[in-house]
Amino acid sequence: MTFLALGLIDPLLRTLDTLGYKQPTPVQKQAIPAVLGGRDLMAAAQTGTGKTAAFALPLLQTLLLEGVTAPKAVRTLVLVPTRELAEQVYQSFRTYGGSLPLKCAVAYGGVPIEGQISKLRRGLDVLVATPGRLLDLHDQGAISFAMMQTLVLDEADRMLDLGFEHDLDILLSAMPKQRQTLLFSATFSDPIRKLANTMLRDPVSIQVSASNTTTRSVKQWLIPTDKRRKPELLLHLLKKLQWGQVLIFVKTRKGVETLIKTLQEHGYSADAIHGDKTQPARLRALDRFKRREVQLLVATDVAARGLDIEALPQVVNFDLPSVAEDYVHRIGRTGRAGMEGEAISLLCADEVDLLKEIETLTGQLIYRVEEAGFEAEHRVPETGPKGMAIAAAKRAAAEAAPKKKRPFTGPAGGRAAQTAGAPAGKPAATASGAARKSPYSKSAPNRAASSAPSGGQFVVTAGRGAKSQARSAGKAQAQSGARRPKSGQR
Ligand code: AMP
Repeated sequence: MTFLALGLIDPLLRTLDTLGYKQPTPVQKQAIPAVLGGRDLMAAAQTGTGKTAAFALPLLQTLLLEGVTAPKAVRTLVLVPTRELAEQVYQSFRTYGGSLPLKCAVAYGGVPIEGQISKLRRGLDVLVATPGRLLDLHDQGAISFAMMQTLVLDEADRMLDLGFEHDLDILLSAMPKQRQTLLFSATFSDPIRKLANTMLRDPVSIQVSASNTTTRSVKQWLIPTDKRRKPELLLHLLKKLQWGQVLIFVKTRKGVETLIKTLQEHGYSADAIHGDKTQPARLRALDRFKRREVQLLVATDVAARGLDIEALPQVVNFDLPSVAEDYVHRIGRTGRAGMEGEAISLLCADEVDLLKEIETLTGQLIYRVEEAGFEAEHRVPETGPKGMAIAAAKRAAAEAAPKKKRPFTGPAGGRAAQTAGAPAGKPAATASGAARKSPYSKSAPNRAASSAPSGGQFVVTAGRGAKSQARSAGKAQAQSGARRPKSGQR
C-alpha cells in the first residue's frame, strides 16, 4: 500500500518522500481515504501510531482543493488538550503542508494573546488550539466559526481527564452543525463514547491496536527499590548503562526540581518541564533537549503527551504516574514510528497499586529486574494479571510458559534475581518474571486502546490553565442557563 493509492496528490507525496515516509501506517491507511471522502471518524489510536499525519494529510489536501478562507474565519480547527501537543500538531501541519499556499497557526494559553488575534485577523485555513485559549479568542470576537468545515478533537480522552468538558460544550454549541468531525482518542471510556455520540454522524470507526504500534517497539522493565534510594539508583544506572539522552518522569513539580538539583550536582546537564514553568521556558527546555544541548529532561506528566523527540532511546519513570493511561503516553515518547526504545520504571513499595492499574490497563505484566545493591528493604509485592491472586497468577503463567527457557533481553547489563539458565553476563527475569508474558511477545494482549480504568476519573494537572479550571467550577451555573460572563469579568 502506497500513499499514492490512498488518493493523496503530488505536492503531499513529494513532501512524504522527502520525509522518508515509505508507506502509510495502519491508522493512515484507514483514515486518509475516509477523511478525503468527507466522512466523520472515530479513531482509537495512540500517539506514536502516525495519527497526526492520518488527519493532517487529507485535511491539507481538501483545504487546498476546495475554497479559501476569510478574515477571522477558520476552515479547519484542531482541538488538543495541552500546549505541548498544540505545538507538536502545529509543527506537523507545517511540515506536511509547508509547500502549500495555506495559512496555519497555533493558539494556546500562557503566552500573549495579541499575536494569535493578529494571525486570525486575515483568516486561517488551519488553527490548532487548546480549548481554554480558543474560548478566550471567541469571547473577544477574534474568531469566527462560520466557515468551519472540519473539527478535529485530538486526544479526546485527555481533554476530558483535564476537565475541558465544559469548555468543549460551549465551543461546540458555537460551531456550525454541518461539518466534518474527527475524534481521536487513545482510550474509549463511557464519557468519550457519549461525546462521540453527540458529535459524530455515521462515523467510520478505526481501531489501531496498541500492540501494533508503540508498545511492541518499547522494551519495558522495572527495578524494585526503596523510595529514598531512587536518586542514587538513577545515578547508578546512568553511569553503568551509559545512557545518552533520557526523558525522566517525576510525579510532582517539587520532585522534578529536587531531582534536577541532584543530577546537576553530579555533573549531568538537565532541564525541567512542569506546570510552574512558563510556556517559553518549557519550549526552551524541550528545544535544548531536542538539540542535545542537555542530556536529561525531567518532566511531570504535563510532558507525557505531544512531545515528539526523534530517536529518543530511553524513558525513565522515576515515579509511576497516578493515572494509568499516562504510563502509556509516557512510554510512547520512545520507540516512535517503529524505532526501538526502552522504558524503565523505578518502583517502590507504595507504588504497587499504581503498577497493578497500569498492568490491568495494558494487559501486560512488566518485567522485574533486581539491581544489585539497590534491593528494596520495604518489599515491593508482586503483581498478577487483572488482580489475580499472585499464587494463581504464577500457576497460570507457569502452565503457559514455554518449556525452553527464554532469555530476557531487556536491560543491557542489569542484574536480575538468579534464574537457572540465564545467559552469562545477561540479566534474567525474576522467578515470577520469567513466567510472565514477554512485553515483546506477539500474543501479549494489549487492551490499552480499547479499555479504560473506571470512568469518571477526574484529574486536573498542570497542563490546564487557571481560567479553564475556573470555568469548570462554574459549570453548574452555566448549565442552568446562566450566561457566561465576558472574559474581562472572569
Ligand atoms: P504521531 O502518532 O502522529 O505522534 O506520529 C509519530 C511519529 O511517526 C512522528 O515522528 C511522525 O513523523 C512519524 N510518522 C508518521 N507517519 C509515518 C510514516 N508513514 N512513516 C514513517 N514515520 C511516520
